[in-house]
Amino acid sequence: MPSKKEKYDCIVIGSGPGGGPFAWKLASQGMDVLVLEAGPRYNPLKDYALDEQDWETKGFPYRKRIKYTYGKQQTLDPQYAQLQSWNKASGKLNRTNKRHYLQYHQVSGVGGTTLHYQGESHRLNENAFRMKTLYGEAVDWPIDYKTLEPYYSEVENIIGVAGPDKVPYRPRSKPYPLKPHKLSYASQVIEKGCKKQGLNLEPNTVAILSQLYRDAPPCNYCNGCIWGCPRKDKGSVDVTFVPIAEDTGNCEILTYAYASRIEVENKQGKKKVTGVSYYDNRGKEHVVKSDYVAVACGAVETPKILLNSDINQNSLVGKNFMETTFYEVIAFHPDRLDSYRGIPFDSVIWEWNNPNPDRGFPGGLRLSPTAGSAMGPINYALRYLKGWGDDFVKGMDEWFGHAVGIGGIAEFFPNKDTFVTLDPEVKDDYGLPVAQIQSFLGEAELKSLEFMEKTSKDILKASGADEIVETASSYDFFSATHVYGTCRMGDDPESSVVDSSLRFHGIPNLLVTDASVFPTSGGGESPSLTIEALSLRAADLLLKDLKKG
Ligand SMILES: Cc1cc2nc3c(=O)[nH]c(=O)nc-3n(C[C@H](O)[C@H](O)[C@H](O)COP(=O)(O)OP(=O)(O)OC[C@H]3O[C@@H](n4cnc5c(N)ncnc54)[C@H](O)[C@@H]3O)c2cc1C
Ligand code: SF4
Repeated sequence: MPSKKEKYDCIVIGSGPGGGPFAWKLASQGMDVLVLEAGPRYNPLKDYALDEQDWETKGFPYRKRIKYTYGKQQTLDPQYAQLQSWNKASGKLNRTNKRHYLQYHQVSGVGGTTLHYQGESHRLNENAFRMKTLYGEAVDWPIDYKTLEPYYSEVENIIGVAGPDKVPYRPRSKPYPLKPHKLSYASQVIEKGCKKQGLNLEPNTVAILSQLYRDAPPCNYCNGCIWGCPRKDKGSVDVTFVPIAEDTGNCEILTYAYASRIEVENKQGKKKVTGVSYYDNRGKEHVVKSDYVAVACGAVETPKILLNSDINQNSLVGKNFMETTFYEVIAFHPDRLDSYRGIPFDSVIWEWNNPNPDRGFPGGLRLSPTAGSAMGPINYALRYLKGWGDDFVKGMDEWFGHAVGIGGIAEFFPNKDTFVTLDPEVKDDYGLPVAQIQSFLGEAELKSLEFMEKTSKDILKASGADEIVETASSYDFFSATHVYGTCRMGDDPESSVVDSSLRFHGIPNLLVTDASVFPTSGGGESPSLTIEALSLRAADLLLKDLKKG
């Protein structure tokens, strides 16, 4: 479908946490905004299967996937073989000596990957902004925690974040808008194990409603957020920033609009963007003009569209990619805990979130109790139980509801073997090169995985759950939910792609407002809240500049 107008004040490409807040802020101040979104608009009340009998097999109702490929595979270091992904029903899940590429879990649709997300809303540890200065690692962010703090509060109020009064290393100017959720029964059991180990298990900070808010009811604790919330209870961008952006009357959202190229004009060495080309659902190409363009396609698709538009003046677009360092272990507890009741990751151990090179790896991490894959009978049957016939039925009777897990995420540091580039051979439906992901784990990531493996197992054991039935880790599988870094933000145009107001060095009317701009990944915090805060700040700075004329 063509856009309603030929020219806009700003075109935003992508409608996830990077695009949605930016579009809203500009539209709320009277700017004419067009959002191009490659995916469809999902209707939470009709499209999600959580209230249907076959919810466990249905999963998320994807209607559009953007094609990408993978580069070289990393050879597994046998020294860390104990980190291999495994379950009781199938044994080792990767029987080769190479790290397998499983998936980059992006959702294409209005709201982006928050349609899939579990609502965790973490501010970054204030020290994670200064990895170079404080710990001599990687790089510093060009802005600090204090600069982002008012924007964190603004986002938390819009999406509805529930959390405790205090979270270590994250000073706040205002309380969370919603009271924290009570811990699920399974988390209360894990809490006892944590106490035995001298660890604090605290309520997690989540954009999941603990009371009536945004005209939506409180959460029903069904734990199914990754399948899409049919009650609009989690703060995904489609039910938070998108409706308020459209209510301004200044924001048009085009779905199934796949942006292919950013148009750049070069007059005597001065570059500026003039608009965007996109393909509609029928494969017809359109060109729309605009004064500003913000790219927010996620850390894999954003470098792709920039590279396909020949925008890469310092050859850094696509470099410094960071993926998810994760470890998860599931074990049977002698008591039936029904860990699938509650919100996913309702609590968190922040003990090791502060960076600390003395641990043998410099970055931070966090651990959380989780139901993991223990969501319903099909998962129990396929993953945790062996045998056939009566034996199997007996196993199901005996163990269903007994699985509980701990999952952790740690800092990932950029390295030279890890990047996003254009695939030299594979093309998308329109004949353009697709993104190619290559990702290798470094020593710090392997050491942090080892640490998470040991501490998670210790906590489960102290909680009484010691029969391990599944482990999943990024040691032998690339399975990335949090990705960042491919358009690094920084003050120096030689070592970064965008400046601290997210404007492209050398092309001031082009912005990148998504997770691509993170200079470092943080120590296991979920990124959406920070992406949204950065996106609102970039919009504010742009509006201030425009006011100044
Ligand atoms: C299972 C799962 C659970 C998660 N849980 C959490 C959590 O609890 N908390 C948290 O903070 N984070 C969580 N995340 C991560 C979080 O969802 C992402 O980090 C975040 O959505 C990234 O935001 P983004 O704006 O960078 O990109 P995205 O959210 O991926 O949005 C990019 C959008 O751009 C569109 N797009 C791409 N290319 C084009 C193009 N050429 N033209 C037009 N449109 C295009 C895509 O269709 C997509 O809609 C989770 C992720 C997954 C997969
Ligand atoms: S746990 Fe709550 S927020 Fe998540 S899908 Fe269920 S009702 Fe929605």
